[in-house]
Amino acid sequence: MITENEMKLEFDSRSCNEGFARVSVAAFLTQLNPTLEEVADVKTALSEAVTNAIIHGYEGKVDKIIITCRIYDQTIEIQVMDRGVGIVDIPQAMEPLFTTKQDCERAGMGFSFMEAFMDTLEVTSSPGKGTIVKMTKKILHTDNRYEG
Ligand code: ATP
Ligand code: MG
Repeated sequence: MITENEMKLEFDSRSCNEGFARVSVAAFLTQLNPTLEEVADVKTALSEAVTNAIIHGYEGKVDKIIITCRIYDQTIEIQVMDRGVGIVDIPQAMEPLFTTKQDCERAGMGFSFMEAFMDTLEVTSSPGKGTIVKMTKKILHTDNRYEG
C-alpha cells in the first residue's frame, strides 16, 4: 500500500478547465477507495475553489491555477493556488452568504460548501499576490480494500 503520494496540475484559468480539474483530482483520489459520496464531496469542494480562482482571483483574466494534491494517512490534501488579486478580509470572505459579486448572482456559499464537504479548510491570501485554499478530507471507507 502506498503511504504517501503527490501530484500537481497547472492549467489556464478558463472555466472550460474546471471539469478537467475536477475529474483529475477525482481520478487521483480513487487510490484511497472512496465511496461515491466522498468523491462527490471532494469534487464539489474543488469546483468551488477553482471557480473562485477564475472569477474572483483572476477576475476573468487568463493566468495559471495550480492544484497540488497529496495523499497521506488515508487523507487527501488539496491546495488550490492563484496569483490573482487576493483577499483583504479572509474571515469576512468565509462567512456564509458573503460575496463581493452580488450583481453576478453569486450566493456567497462557496467557502461554506468547502467547509461542509471537507474536514479542514485553511485560506491564506495576500492582496495583490494571490490566494491559497488548502483543504483535507479523510477517506473513511476502507472496507474491501485490495491490499495485494
Ligand atoms: P458562490 O461561491 O456562492 O457563487 P462567492 O464566490 O461570492 O459566491 P465564496 O466562494 O464563499 O462566495 O467566496 C466569498 C468571497 O471571497 C468572494 O465573493 C470573493 O470576494 C472572495 N474570494 C473567494 N475566493 C477568492 C480568490 N481565489 N481570490 C480573491 N477573492 C476570493
Ligand atoms: Mg465562490
